[in-house]
Amino acid sequence: MKEGTVLLLGRPNVGKSTFVNNVIGQKIAITSPKPQTTRMPIQGFYHEDRGNIIFTDTPGIFGKAKDVLAKKINVLALREVNKKVDVVIYMIDPTRKRDFEEAKVLGIARKFKMPVILVYNKMDNPEPKFMVQYKFIEDEFPQVFKISALNKLHLPPLIDRIFELLPEKSESEYTHEALVYPLINMDSSGFVAELIREKIFLMMGEEIPYSSHIVVDEIKERDNGVMYIRARILTTADRYKRMLIGANGRKIKEIGSYARKEIALATNKKVFLDLTVETDPHWQETYFS
Ligand code: GDP
Ligand code: MG
Repeated sequence: MKEGTVLLLGRPNVGKSTFVNNVIGQKIAITSPKPQTTRMPIQGFYHEDRGNIIFTDTPGIFGKAKDVLAKKINVLALREVNKKVDVVIYMIDPTRKRDFEEAKVLGIARKFKMPVILVYNKMDNPEPKFMVQYKFIEDEFPQVFKISALNKLHLPPLIDRIFELLPEKSESEYTHEALVYPLINMDSSGFVAELIREKIFLMMGEEIPYSSHIVVDEIKERDNGVMYIRARILTTADRYKRMLIGANGRKIKEIGSYARKEIALATNKKVFLDLTVETDPHWQETYFS
C-alpha cells in the first residue's frame, strides 16, 4: 500500500480546506494516530484501495516572524515539515492578484526538498483574470494541475499523481478501526449520531443497533472551548436498554468514551459527551414516518 503526508501550501482563501473536504467528501475516516509518534495536525485522512493520504497544513510556518525566537521557530517548523511530508501541493488562486503574501508562499515552496505539485484552483471560472501573473512559477514547478475544489473538477488525475509520489509501506502507521463514514450532506448532529451508532455496532453486535436510534439533543461550544454534546440512545425494549447500560453502567461509559475520543480527534476540540439510554418502543414512528 501507499501512505504519506501531503502538505497544502497556499495563501489564505485559495481553497485548501475546500479541497481537503471535497477530496475526502463522502468518505472521511477518523483515525487515531499511534500515540508514540508525534505528527503534524491532520486536516484530513483520505483512505482508499491504493492506500492513505494524510492532508495537513501548517499555519505555524506563516506566522509573522517578529523576533529572533519566532524566526527560529519558523526554521524549525520548516525542518520538521521537510522530515515528515512526502508531497507538497502549492495551491494558487488565479482569480486573485498576485501579491506580497504570494511571494512569501513561493519563497517557502522553494525551500522544500520533496516534490512540489502546482495546483491552480477555482478553474470553474472559464478564464481566471490573473492567470498570467502566475505563469512564471511553472518554470520552477513543472507539475501542473488545474482543478476546481469547489465543483470537484479534475480531482482524480491529481490524486493519481499524489499516489505515484507517495512511498510504499508494508503497513499503515495509523490505527484505523475500519471507520469510514458516509458524510455526504451530513450535519454535525448526523456525524455525531453516526459515530455513536458505529460504536454500538462495534461493541454490541448487530441486533441492538438495528433496534436503536440516536438523538443528538445539543451540540454547543462552551466559553472554555469544550464542546458539550448531549445525546440519547433510544431503544425498543427494556432488555436492550439494560444491555446497552451494562453492569454498573460500564457498557454505556465505554461506548461514550470511544465516541467522545473520536469526536475530539475529528474536531480537534475537548469534548464532553453526555450520553444516556432510554426505552422508546415507538422511535421508528416518531423519527421515520
Ligand atoms: P483556504 O483558506 O485556503 O482553506 O480556503 P477555503 O477552502 O476556505 O476557500 C476560500 C473561499 O474560496 C471559499 O469561499 C470557497 O468557497 C472558495 N473556493 C474554494 N475552492 C473554490 C473553487 O474551486 N472555485 C471557486 N469559485 N471558489 C472556491
Ligand atoms: Mg483553510
